[in-house]
Amino acid sequence: MNNKQQVLSTDVLVIGGGIAGLAAAVTIKETDSNTDVLIVEKQTTGYSGKANRGGGVLQYFDFNRVDPMEFVGYHANAVGCFLGDQEQMLRYVKMNNQMIDKLIEWGVKVPFNEDGTLKIIPTGPMTGMIGVDLDITLQVRRTAEKKGVKIIDKVTVSDLLTNNNEIVGATGYSLLDGTFYVIKAKSVILATGSQNYRVINMWSNGRGDGIAAKPS
Ligand SMILES: Cc1cc2nc3c(=O)[nH]c(=O)nc-3n(C[C@H](O)[C@H](O)[C@H](O)COP(=O)(O)OP(=O)(O)OC[C@H]3O[C@@H](n4cnc5c(N)ncnc54)[C@H](O)[C@@H]3O)c2cc1C
Repeated sequence: MNNKQQVLSTDVLVIGGGIAGLAAAVTIKETDSNTDVLIVEKQTTGYSGKANRGGGVLQYFDFNRVDPMEFVGYHANAVGCFLGDQEQMLRYVKMNNQMIDKLIEWGVKVPFNEDGTLKIIPTGPMTGMIGVDLDITLQVRRTAEKKGVKIIDKVTVSDLLTNNNEIVGATGYSLLDGTFYVIKAKSVILATGSQNYRVINMWSNGRGDGIAAKPS
């Protein structure tokens, strides 16, 4: 309690500066540039998260060959995704190529053929892969900052704040000097990733914080 304290306010608080948090933040700014968006990241936005210098490939669907429903059916029935959110998977397939266009717009480099079409590596009857800029998250961070997204790094969010059962912000602390943060927000986006602690050193930050976050 003797530590320094900071109270901040924002329209939208994004917890986690991986690709999901960054994409959400940029999309909000593109929808309404007057909305205040703040990303709070426990490591360093642009360098943290699993998309940074990971596999380096993006899935691409040739919609002349892929029926999104067929893709979902195959994954639900033959791959083991039956208990997953099948509607979410359908949305993902339908929006996949749109997402790639957005990443290109946000500065991520992907390879093109001489005729201007995307260089696709065929990987199966339904999918192809595109090799992608290994600094994918860093490029999106730069775009986010250009659009006015505020970013606080090295702050771990520890709890969500609630009022009458509504989430109204979060608390956290600086990993550098222990400063305790109270962040009030009209909306909160939890983009803290999956639980992937110990999968590989690079992803050691993914400890399921979002999954474990309980309103208090
Ligand atoms: C081994 C492996 C290989 C992969 N290869 C590919 C691939 O080739 N192509 C592909 O498309 N996908 C690949 N993926 C999947 C892809 O990397 C992930 O789906 C994607 O990066 C998830 O992004 P995210 O923003 O949801 O989560 P994350 O990338 O995990 O980002 C979450 C962020 O939240 C921060 N955070 C967590 N808790 C807190 C907290 N309490 N307070 C503040 N910040 C917090 C973390 O530090 C992190 O920066 C791979 C995944 C793995 C594990």
